[in-house]
Amino acid sequence: MVSSTIPFSGSLLDRAGNHRRDGAWLKAQLGAETSRFLLLHELKPLIALEGGARLAWFPQRYAAALADCPTLLLGLENGVAHFAIDVDAVPGIEGLADEQNKFIDVRSIAPQLSLPEAAILAQARSMTDWHRRHRFCAQCGAPSNAEDAGYSRRCSNDACKAQHFPRTDPVVIMLGVLPDAGGDRQADRILLGRQRQFLPGVYSALAGFMEPGESIEEAVRRELAEEAGLATGEVRYIASQPWPFPSSLMIGCVADATSDALTVDQHELEDARWFRRDEVTTMLRASTDMNAPLRLPPPLSLAHQITKRYLGMD
Ligand SMILES: [Zn+2]
Repeated sequence: MVSSTIPFSGSLLDRAGNHRRDGAWLKAQLGAETSRFLLLHELKPLIALEGGARLAWFPQRYAAALADCPTLLLGLENGVAHFAIDVDAVPGIEGLADEQNKFIDVRSIAPQLSLPEAAILAQARSMTDWHRRHRFCAQCGAPSNAEDAGYSRRCSNDACKAQHFPRTDPVVIMLGVLPDAGGDRQADRILLGRQRQFLPGVYSALAGFMEPGESIEEAVRRELAEEAGLATGEVRYIASQPWPFPSSLMIGCVADATSDALTVDQHELEDARWFRRDEVTTMLRASTDMNAPLRLPPPLSLAHQITKRYLGMD
C-alpha cells in the first residue's frame, strides 16, 4: 500500500465494496463481537482523549442498543468490521461524553489524529452528512432508505424506486506560477490570494468548484482567469484531498502563467499577488504561527501540501 502524506487520505480500512450488497454478511458483521462502532453526534465523532487523541471505537456489545440508528460500513481492518453510527436521534446521548471522551468536530480534532484515523473521519463525516441531507428521493420526493451498507439510497415509492448515490464535489485548487524567463526555477514567482474572511496575514492558493462539462485543466484556467485575471497555459496535477465539509474532493494543480498581468476580482478576493519563492518558503514555515505577518494555511489544507510539494520541501 502506498502511504499518504495528505491529510484526510490514507485510511487503512479495506472498504469491502464487494461485500456491501450481501445482506447476510452485513448482518453477521453488525452482530459480531469484534466489530467496532464510531459514534457521530451532530457530525462530531466521539474522541478518546486520555493519553493522546484517538477515535473512541465502541465495542459491539454496547453498540447493539443503537441498532435503530443509521449505520454505515466504513470497512475492514484485519478482518474486523468498522462502522459509523449517527446517534443524533438517541435521547441523552451527549451524556456519554465525559472528561476523557468528547464529541469533537472533525476539523478541530483532525490535526491531533494520525493520518489513517483522520482519513476514517473524512469518510464517516461525508457519508453521515449525505444520509442526513438526502432522506427524500430527488426524483419524486418520497422518503428513501439506505442500502448497500450505507453506500446508496433507494426511493420507497414502488412506481419510482430510483437509486441515489453519495456525491463528491470536485474543487480545483492551484498555484499560478510565473516561470523565470531565464529558466531559473529559483526565480519563479507564485500567485497567492486572500479572501476577506481569512485570518490576518493568510494567503492561499486560489480555488473554485469545477463546473459540469469541464476538464480539470479547463477549470484551473477558468478560475485563475476569473479570480485574478491571469492567463495560463500548461496545467500540472500535484495531489488530491478528500475535504469532508461536507463532501469536496480538492484537486491540487500548478498552472504556468503566460503573463504576469493580474486583475483581481474584488468580489471573490481581497487581494492576489505574486510572491517570490523564498517569501513563500517563509510563509509555509510560518503556517501555524498566528503572529507571522504573512503565512500560508496550516498543514491540514491541500493549499499547504501542494505548495510544500512545489517547493520540494516534502
Ligand atoms: Zn422516487
